[in-house]
Amino acid sequence: MPTDDRTMTEDPRKQAKYERLRRKMVAKQLARRGIRDSRVLEVMESLPREQFVPPGIRGAAYDDRALPIDHGQTISQPFIVAYMTEQLTPTSSHRVLEVGTGSGYQTAVLCRLCGHVYTIERIAPLQAAAAARLAAIGCHNVTFAHGDGSVGLAEHAPYDRIIVTAAAPAVPSALVDQLVDGGILIAPVGGERTQTLTRVVRRGDTTSTTPLLTCRFVKLIGADGWSPRVT
Ligand code: SAH
Repeated sequence: MPTDDRTMTEDPRKQAKYERLRRKMVAKQLARRGIRDSRVLEVMESLPREQFVPPGIRGAAYDDRALPIDHGQTISQPFIVAYMTEQLTPTSSHRVLEVGTGSGYQTAVLCRLCGHVYTIERIAPLQAAAAARLAAIGCHNVTFAHGDGSVGLAEHAPYDRIIVTAAAPAVPSALVDQLVDGGILIAPVGGERTQTLTRVVRRGDTTSTTPLLTCRFVKLIGADGWSPRVT
């Protein structure tokens, strides 16, 4: 049930162009900048990122930056997707929670590397569009949820890995509670404008936290995130 016919009828020359751009993106933006996990590189070389951006800006799908998607949200920069995925050290047995489905591109990367992905999004139309895209490219090891993921998704907890793809003012404690012992959480944590990508490893009732790099994400909005701006 493809909802976007343009993804199905793209002409072969355009496909070849996207494949070239994708190879170049992997070599220059990922491998050259230190992404080492060959599975991450392979998956990102095979996934049609152009299908995850709005039709009018597909030509920019492999640019070295985040791009706007609908509802004022963004699809993350390829390097950030690769880096966060590598930091998660995913395996095929992992059950992973993603907070902030957005375009579904990060979700698709995780689906190719993990056992099952649970992904939660607060904006229902984004969730629906992402679900259609993942079905169209044959990703079926995924469960979509609609709601406030700042408090996690208790019904399927615990998770081996949790990835938050929106900026949180602090590491949401409910998410740490929903990690298995030895589980890893990656989240952008900090202010509204810039954050520090942060890795949290849970060991029993304690955690160890490592700052990774400076980044810029749209806000995590919810009970354990930012309040929605009243306009
Ligand atoms: N990984 C996505 C990033 C999308 S931007 C991609 O690359 O496409 C972050 C997303 O988080 C937005 O779609 C936003 O609506 C969503 N979001 C923000 N706060 C949320 C919350 N509390 N629960 C679930 N989703 C949230």
